[in-house]
Amino acid sequence: MIDIKSLNEDELKNEMRSIGEPAFRAGQIFSWLHVKRVNSFDEMTDLSKSLRNKLAERYEITALAAVRSLKSSDGTVKFLYKLSDGQVIESVLMTYKHGHSICVSSQVGCRMGCAFCASTIDGLVRNLTASEILEQVYEAERSCEVTISNIVIMGSGEPMDNYDNVIRFIRLVSDKKGKNISVRNITLSTCGIVPGIMKLADEGLPVTLALSLHAPDDEIRKTFMPVAKAFSIEEILKACDHYFEKTSRRVTFEYSMIDGVNDSPACAEKLSKLAGGRNCHVNLIPINKIKERSFVRSGEDNISKFKNILEKNRINVTIRRSMGTDIDAACGQLRRSFMEGDT
Ligand code: SAH
Repeated sequence: MIDIKSLNEDELKNEMRSIGEPAFRAGQIFSWLHVKRVNSFDEMTDLSKSLRNKLAERYEITALAAVRSLKSSDGTVKFLYKLSDGQVIESVLMTYKHGHSICVSSQVGCRMGCAFCASTIDGLVRNLTASEILEQVYEAERSCEVTISNIVIMGSGEPMDNYDNVIRFIRLVSDKKGKNISVRNITLSTCGIVPGIMKLADEGLPVTLALSLHAPDDEIRKTFMPVAKAFSIEEILKACDHYFEKTSRRVTFEYSMIDGVNDSPACAEKLSKLAGGRNCHVNLIPINKIKERSFVRSGEDNISKFKNILEKNRINVTIRRSMGTDIDAACGQLRRSFMEGDT
């Protein structure tokens, strides 16, 4: 069966030709899938019954059904979805003053191995298809009756490790004939896969790039991010500079604050040197405790001292507001507790 929701209109045209149908059917089907968002061919009422049957024999329509959704007191909603092969993924819908934002997963699990992250504990299970990523957006909009204005590819998984499907997803979700979200309202977060950043720069898709930097030097970074052994901060920042030159998009440096590991004043000074002179924004993330790991979130005092040092050095810095902490909203936590059967 062919995953029809992952195909763009041109590909659909080719499919129609291959089954002896006129190419304009592609536009009709694309609209049924991405605007009206039906989940069966039978609902495509402007197609003949025989065509609907023909389509149903050859194509499948990916749909996600939440096995659980949890609403936090701050309005954040966490969805847990079971995929057709039984795998489980999660996404998070956040509501801000300026609109609704969704954090989508790009893989089942992750193989990057960052020591403070719950998504990576059992490694990578598999990549998500473009339609499975897309459905996280559609299903959240449907079930919560909202229009999502921002997408962050910051859930479980490393998007650069599932590059083609993630790019396909970005193109589909920003398609003018589909959801039509501006690529500028999409953020892709990476732990720093240099070839991926370089490739993305040439994609003609000026999404916001977020780099999970988390340390001011390679030595510290290597202690909790295995990917730091493959790419040095110097190389990664060079790639980010290239990304900025190509897209004019200011890069975000994410910096998860871990008590006693990366939160000293010396770290803040070093980070200022890296960020200084670059068109970037530093987002400090008080780390969420995961039960499998001993890392502890930096104290409020340390975080504000750290922030003050960056500000003194004229770095653009914010502290990320934690949302949904009462519902295990951080990367991979809910999925794990679901799989362990204790929620
Ligand atoms: N693999 C990509 C995207 C997924 S992780 C990346 O590394 O960017 C999304 C963000 O959440 C990353 O910045 C990651 O470091 C952060 N993160 C993961 N676990 C966390 C935790 N327990 N507390 C705070 N941030 C966490």
